[in-house]
Amino acid sequence: KPQNERQRLPVVPQGIERDEFLKALAELKEQLGQENVEINDKPLKDGWYMEHPNTHDMMTILDEEEFVASAIVYPGSTEEVQQIVLWANKYRIPIFPISMGRNLGYGGAAPRVRGSVTIDLGKRMNKILDINAEDYTCLVEPGVSFYALYEAIKERGLEDHMWIDTPDLGGGSIIGNTVDRGVGYTPYGDHWACHSGLEVVLPTGEVIRTGMGALPGNNTWQAFPYGFGPFSDGIFSQSNFGIVTKMGMTLMPNPGGHEAFMYTFPKEEDLAPLIDIIRPLRISNILENVAQLRHVTQALAARGRPRTEFYSGSGPMPSEAVHAAAAKTPVGDHAWAYYGMSYGPPQVRAHKLALVDAAFRRIPGARRIDPSTLPADEYFWARDRVARGVPDIHELRWVNWQPNGAHIAFSPVSPIRGADAARLFALGKEAHERYGIDFFPAFCVGLREMHLIVEIVFDRADAGQRKAALACLRDMVDEAAKLGYGEYRTHLVLMDQVAGTYNWNDGALMKFNERLKDALDPQGILAPGRCGIWPKRYRGRGWEM
Ligand code: FAD
Repeated sequence: KPQNERQRLPVVPQGIERDEFLKALAELKEQLGQENVEINDKPLKDGWYMEHPNTHDMMTILDEEEFVASAIVYPGSTEEVQQIVLWANKYRIPIFPISMGRNLGYGGAAPRVRGSVTIDLGKRMNKILDINAEDYTCLVEPGVSFYALYEAIKERGLEDHMWIDTPDLGGGSIIGNTVDRGVGYTPYGDHWACHSGLEVVLPTGEVIRTGMGALPGNNTWQAFPYGFGPFSDGIFSQSNFGIVTKMGMTLMPNPGGHEAFMYTFPKEEDLAPLIDIIRPLRISNILENVAQLRHVTQALAARGRPRTEFYSGSGPMPSEAVHAAAAKTPVGDHAWAYYGMSYGPPQVRAHKLALVDAAFRRIPGARRIDPSTLPADEYFWARDRVARGVPDIHELRWVNWQPNGAHIAFSPVSPIRGADAARLFALGKEAHERYGIDFFPAFCVGLREMHLIVEIVFDRADAGQRKAALACLRDMVDEAAKLGYGEYRTHLVLMDQVAGTYNWNDGALMKFNERLKDALDPQGILAPGRCGIWPKRYRGRGWEM
């Protein structure tokens, strides 16, 4: 290769000499084909969401070279995944599977251990194996995105029949998002709860099918998740115990109508009483979807304009400046915006919406926004699309708040209770003030709990901002744990810290996970350190951060 194309020497995984590593890669090329093994020796390019790199985290919070792959391999089948796993065991090379690598805010495509070989499953394993219009299920490979499934349903003329559930951005992988226990915004928003059946390559190379998939000739793999005996699926989510090569997913029947709605509430202090109003409505399914309650600052940022257009001072943007800038938006001088969706035919919706209206108006000054007054590119319509399973990328806009916009999330869970919401809000606000960062809290209300998603947007070219964002996150994780709150999911850089907060009974759960890890992956090759689970040969050797 010409010199200028090789500005970086590829990283080599620890514990193997460069020459031996290159020889091992050559062997893998023979098995998978030259074009399916790529050494990571070119300058790291960040691209953007739709053209993201698979070599590193394009929204890096550390130095870009910190979480970086040595090579990327592209299997075309479950058998090829098995070959890669056997190869990794032979040379004791760490491998890190991604489905599509759009895990932005949580580490993107990056591996936890520098120099791991990334298995990019999605590039070639991207088939929709089944869409069952009678059972409302599908079976997909890792490279099937929310967009792709949505398009396939349309192509088969089934769009009036069944819906998918999509996260705020539709470009991710259904498997990747689901195994990381991601969320969407229809009544099927808890993706892990909605999957049924996995095919998994174990770290020693065997393949298993879970649930009914273990029974040859069954026709219930996607209909009944449990099968017989221990329900093993759980150990393959947020873990490093296996590589998922197929997954079943349930689909939602078209409910026969839908109507997005939006309310705003004037004061930050309205949060606690509002959450207490939301709880019974949500648990009894009058509020039917994973709706979002967003702070005005993020609602302003969702317009896609940089912060400097509204405020040039340092520190968090003052409330008066936020409201002055938000004056032309539907949230205006209010503090909170609730985006919801009602499903079903008009008479069913009217009943539910009347109950919601009466309840929400118990907050003095609550305002219902008439959707017919909102222009087509208003953020409200993105929420409307997502809550009816139409993939979208409008949500990316708030990342423009900072130049070279990147983000990282603090995502604690709590019951749907006002006191908890207020406590977490105060904790987050204080930490953001301490580090001079704008605070973007959004409460995503599940059935009996809520995820508070706080996105810190930072300029990834600014080392000072990166440092402040990370310090702020670390403080919030520890302070939340002291109050009894834990994160539902986290970025690679925080996995050890977050796992360390789940330490009841002298860390009994992590000890159990480590026993599973050592039994299933004796050579410790699969995604070492993911979710804080380190295999024996890495433990206590300075890998934790
Ligand atoms: P991947 O990156 O492929 O996978 C995620 C992780 O799971 C991988 O790092 C890997 O460790 C593991 N993994 C993946 N595939 C496998 C496999 N086959 N076997 C074993 N392990 C595997 N997320 C949400 O959930 N909801 C949202 O509403 C949401 N909104 C977002 C908004 C913005 C603006 C941004 C930038 C991100 C948002 N995200 C959201 C985060 C993220 O973009 C999505 O979760 C995305 O779907 C994850 O990327 P992916 O699907 O490509 O998964």
